[in-house]
Amino acid sequence: MFHPTPALTLRRCSLASRAVLAITTWTIQAAAEDKKPEPPKPPNVIIILADDLGYGDLGCFGHPTIATPNLDRMAREGMRLTQFYSAAPVCTPSRAALVTGRLPVRTGMTSDKRGVLFPDSKGGLQAGEITIAEALKTKNYATACIGKWHLGHLPQYLPTRHGFDSYYGIPYSNDMKPAVLLRNERAIEDPVDQTTLTDRYTAEALTFIRQNRKGPFFLYLPHNFPHVPLFASSEFKGKSRRGLYGDVVEELDASVGRILETLRELKIDDHTFVFFTSDNGPWLVKRGEGGSAGLLREGKGSTWEGGMREPAIAWWPGTIPAGRTSAELASMTDLFATIHKLADIELPPDVTLDSLDLSGVLTGKSASPRQSMFYYRGTRLMAARMGAWKAHYLTQSGYGGDAPVPHDPPLLYDLEHDPSEKIDVAKSHPEVIAAMQKLVDEHKATIVPVPSQLE
Ligand code: MG
Repeated sequence: MFHPTPALTLRRCSLASRAVLAITTWTIQAAAEDKKPEPPKPPNVIIILADDLGYGDLGCFGHPTIATPNLDRMAREGMRLTQFYSAAPVCTPSRAALVTGRLPVRTGMTSDKRGVLFPDSKGGLQAGEITIAEALKTKNYATACIGKWHLGHLPQYLPTRHGFDSYYGIPYSNDMKPAVLLRNERAIEDPVDQTTLTDRYTAEALTFIRQNRKGPFFLYLPHNFPHVPLFASSEFKGKSRRGLYGDVVEELDASVGRILETLRELKIDDHTFVFFTSDNGPWLVKRGEGGSAGLLREGKGSTWEGGMREPAIAWWPGTIPAGRTSAELASMTDLFATIHKLADIELPPDVTLDSLDLSGVLTGKSASPRQSMFYYRGTRLMAARMGAWKAHYLTQSGYGGDAPVPHDPPLLYDLEHDPSEKIDVAKSHPEVIAAMQKLVDEHKATIVPVPSQLE
């Protein structure tokens, strides 16, 4: 059999074939110049928010009988944050802070009279506020809000007026009558069947993800549960070892599992940042129907740690290192700046933000830029954190009906040694109290009083 030698092959390249080769090369080069590679798309973003889930309610945060295999896996594949805080101990102000990166005392989304918005409220998040969704729209993100909005139920305040292309959900809490289900700005079910709510939110979320698989997309998925009254679908009801509360949390866990599995199936898991947390602590006065703050003191409504420190898990395979636990200080308000950074968007220049970029913490490359936290109840600054130290100037139980108790000097706790806030060390650390007072004075000087939108 004849095998041409390389030399012979070269000789066979006639002038004609060289010309063809040259033309072909030129055509490829011209096509490449015409069609420059597109810049990489910014990552998809998914925020999953539970309602009233406590710090101690997940398997990966120490609950002994609620089974959360999907969130546990999410934590194994991503990062658990053990010192992550909401910006308020109740729903409306916490959510306002999440979407705007601003403390509720700056946006008017808090009140000393009514803690949250109700179905008879006239107010809501003001049009001038910039939301994460509006920021991401500047980078052509597809945006959807699915779930509990609670930033105003009148049309001018709905998600569709705040940067979301679509909305599906109950615009306030599930215990507020009538609990109505909206699609965009129209009521489609009144009253809503809550037994299938988590499942339907999940189905809507999966449809949105599939439709926007080419990205980039932003999905904000604030569930209505495990806020009381509790409802689970027939698939989950009666299945957990922790009663109906456990059933509800296990159904949320399954929902997270379906979302992460869909991202894997679509092969966009390595291009999607997913963050799971809760809006405030467990509703303890609901007894067995409320959750657990684990080793933290008190719960929802309170500025003790149990009211505002939340379980939090960040996930982005290949970017967030797997299996990490971070005890860095972090706040829900920081999602705003962090997502700006991930999507390469400049922060708004003329807005007072309470938001710091946590991308270095999430990638494991740097310490948290956050060194302080301010704990508000309504417009009152109740406590502050500086590094490991927390000073309580006022204390009040979450739902006990008691009056605020002032403390002078403040109660002082070392949260890294004493996360349960049991050992007041104020007497032995006057220098910490003085430094803390300076921090609080500087912070208060930045607060410009605004009318409450909740009254
Ligand atoms: Mg809540």
